[in-house]
Amino acid sequence: MAPNVLVDEAKPSASQPAKSASAKAPDVFLDEALPRLDLAAKYSKASSDTVETLRYPERFTEVSIPVRKDDGSLEVFTGYRCRFNTVRGPAKGGIRYHPDVSAAEVRALAFWMTFKCATVGIPLGGGKGGVIVDPRKLSERELEALSRGYMRGMADVLGPDIDVPAPDVYTNAKIMGWMSDEFDTIKRGRYPGVITGKPVSRGGSLGRDDATARGGFVCLQEIEKKRGWNPGDITVAIQGFGNAGQHFARLANDAGYKVVAVSDSRGGIYDENGLDVPATLSAKQDTGRLPSQGKAISNEDLLELNVDVLVPAALENAITKDNAGNVTAKVLIELANGPLTKEADEIIAKTDALVVPDILANAGGVTVSYFEWCQNISGYYWKLETVHERLGEIMSDSFNQVFDVMESENITMRTACYAHALNRLAEAME
Ligand code: NAD
Repeated sequence: MAPNVLVDEAKPSASQPAKSASAKAPDVFLDEALPRLDLAAKYSKASSDTVETLRYPERFTEVSIPVRKDDGSLEVFTGYRCRFNTVRGPAKGGIRYHPDVSAAEVRALAFWMTFKCATVGIPLGGGKGGVIVDPRKLSERELEALSRGYMRGMADVLGPDIDVPAPDVYTNAKIMGWMSDEFDTIKRGRYPGVITGKPVSRGGSLGRDDATARGGFVCLQEIEKKRGWNPGDITVAIQGFGNAGQHFARLANDAGYKVVAVSDSRGGIYDENGLDVPATLSAKQDTGRLPSQGKAISNEDLLELNVDVLVPAALENAITKDNAGNVTAKVLIELANGPLTKEADEIIAKTDALVVPDILANAGGVTVSYFEWCQNISGYYWKLETVHERLGEIMSDSFNQVFDVMESENITMRTACYAHALNRLAEAME
């Protein structure tokens, strides 16, 4: 069934954002994204014209996607795509399937992708997409119909040289495969670079599975060099034991760090002498649950443990004004997106803890997505070692560039990231 393009507006005003199905939701774009831009502007060379331009997405598209359900009924879903900024290259950003997706959230996430890509210096802009849906309530056939319908609605505004989506919350390689196939059918050709996060058999890159954790781990290794750490003396706690958390635990353990605590949505385990990480990983992979090892702790307890490194790798807003004062870790590596609320961030900024912000710490994922796109458009595929080597180089260079801005301006690493990214965007625009 053909999707119906409802809105295709070039420039919703920053003060009057586009109307959406969830107009009552808080506007994360206005409330959280734009103040970051204003703060970064104070420490960057960007002109006021550049900053003003970055307050608006280049394009925001809304489609409705009718899906015939297995029981014969029809349900119409709402889908969004925001192309925030393409001055440094085609837009890049995931597609999220979640009941809480809103136009404001998609716009904010696309803004953050613009700054994430600029922070690590990859030649891509920022985009994001989403569908208001609980995918767990759809059958496999309904999910495929929805995904193909999304691509039919968006095919005119996506493409390898315009805007390149990827997986996000509740979307995966199979969904990217369906969307890529639908785009090829519409355009009557082969365009693997239209979307990343595809299965390796359909042009996906090697090394995408642990790219996010590996990027965050490179940040940890750079801190190790700066602080002269001996990994065996350094304790690490990881909240969230999914893709990002599990790979981070493995990499840290292999490098000799003492991973003392991990948790998933059911709670956590703690052993001050270090967990048996390989046993923890295989129990989680085989049974879906953490093993009974050490002491059982709650997720709240894990965040407040007396450890050197805390890695929030679960959901946003894990650390709020209520528990930020109890966080004692000296280094926080934000593998999750937005794990600290604005208030928590302000509380921790007053301590001597170093927070490696999400737009740098978890940028390994988008960096390997960029590698996938490079391989797709050149038609030449890289070995795993090449992916690891190039990812390591980009992450360590970016970490050190941001660290230098932080030190020279005497600001937090988060503000330094935004200022550094804003300088790159300004250079391209001006
Ligand atoms: P995932 O779904 O694989 O894992 C999430 C984990 O968090 C699961 O183990 C789940 O049990 C756990 N969890 C959920 N609620 C929790 C709670 N209250 N306390 C503790 N644990 C809880 O997701 P993922 O891909 O690992 O992503 C994790 C975070 O990293 C998200 O914020 C995501 O946006 C961010 N991120 C991931 C990638 C990537 O490539 N996977 C890239 C960039 C950012």
